[in-house]
Amino acid sequence: MKKSKAKKRRIVYAFVLIVFLIILFLVGWFFAILFEGEKPSISLEPLPKFFTKIQEFTLSIGDSKRGLKRLIISVKQGGREISVLKKEFPFNGLLNRQGVHQFKKEIFIDPLVLNLAQGRADLYIQVWDYSRRGGGDGNHGLVQHKMIVDTIPPSIRAISRQHNINKGGVGLVVYQTSSDTEESGVFVDDHFSPGFPVNEKSQEGIHVSYFALSYNTSTTPKIYLWAKDMADNASKTTFYVHVRRKNFRKERLTISDRFLERILPYFSFYPFDPGVSDVKKFLIINNKLRKENHNIFVKVAKTTHPDKLWEGSFLRLKNAATMARFADLRSYYYKGKKIDEQGHFGVDLASLPNSPIQAANNGKVVFADRLGIYGFTVVLDHGQGLASIYAHMSKINVPLGQEVKKGESIGFTGQTGLAAGDHLHFGIMVNGVFVNPIEWFDGHWIKDNISRKLALIK
Ligand SMILES: [Zn+2]
Repeated sequence: MKKSKAKKRRIVYAFVLIVFLIILFLVGWFFAILFEGEKPSISLEPLPKFFTKIQEFTLSIGDSKRGLKRLIISVKQGGREISVLKKEFPFNGLLNRQGVHQFKKEIFIDPLVLNLAQGRADLYIQVWDYSRRGGGDGNHGLVQHKMIVDTIPPSIRAISRQHNINKGGVGLVVYQTSSDTEESGVFVDDHFSPGFPVNEKSQEGIHVSYFALSYNTSTTPKIYLWAKDMADNASKTTFYVHVRRKNFRKERLTISDRFLERILPYFSFYPFDPGVSDVKKFLIINNKLRKENHNIFVKVAKTTHPDKLWEGSFLRLKNAATMARFADLRSYYYKGKKIDEQGHFGVDLASLPNSPIQAANNGKVVFADRLGIYGFTVVLDHGQGLASIYAHMSKINVPLGQEVKKGESIGFTGQTGLAAGDHLHFGIMVNGVFVNPIEWFDGHWIKDNISRKLALIK
């Protein structure tokens, strides 16, 4: 009897203990849910560095456990905190199981509406959940995004006044921008010519820009100064430009079989399809290869020194006759039939065969190699987007990267490439556009259009 009574009591104790442990576990579980410590998640996009105008943000917040309780969006600047949005999420169902666990919203924030000053401003996204943590406030999620308010575009104004520019010629504008300017220059229709700062301590923000009017520019080109700041705010302003019309010559060139026989071996490097006739080869050279070569010039001319390297008028090949002019429109005839038409964007100067060629001005060799239709070619960079081109040479005397002085020998004339006889094809390029070299040979033109404007920089 005694033994079984003790046994029964042990069973009761064990049962009570198990029940107690279960209750303890349930209570613990309940409190663990109630006091869960997982922070709400916050994702904000985009995260712009600059705050320039009304900005759309996509906000996604979530809390998988107790659910979302409160969302506060604000902007802090200096000691000011400006509320953007406050939202309470309702408690719903047992332990908020039917509450809000995910929330997505597009928010528009306008620095002008919030009356923000220029400078640092921080965007705060704060979210709380329905946990009993944090003294009952819930778990707190925070995203702080630092931004620079910059709603004011840079200012830009022309300093030089009169700009009389020939079609196919060049203009120089001296202008001033505010100190926040990151990039500036001149637009002629869609073509951009960068400006280069002139480092004068007395006048901050002074720039020069050489801009070309292409030979085929529209009758009323849109020409304006343009500036952009770090925040991508841009401004533009017009300045006085008078475009002088100019007519270019038409030239008729006859392509003979003898000419084709003479020039085609030079182009044996070109991957012509088998069975292509000589005339067809000529047309491929005169069109496709010409374009490829032109693109190389544009690319090469992009690496330019930020300072003006040249001085005074450009040298013209000594004792040379002008055989072809800038922007001559050439019609090509074969056996009496017109087969092609191309513009000529330099001057052809002929002297004695193998005449020495001098650097037209101070600069740096940025190209010295064979170049398709141009044969042996040298390109000199004269700084600030200005370059000179020497083509059809028989010999190049200067290596790539060498600095040359005006008058220094760079090689000899020849008839390499697509040339009918020994001559120098001389070109001037301004920011990727071929212009009339005649202006650069002319000391009066340089004085009136360049030197006088540069003299405005004190
Ligand atoms: Zn030429």
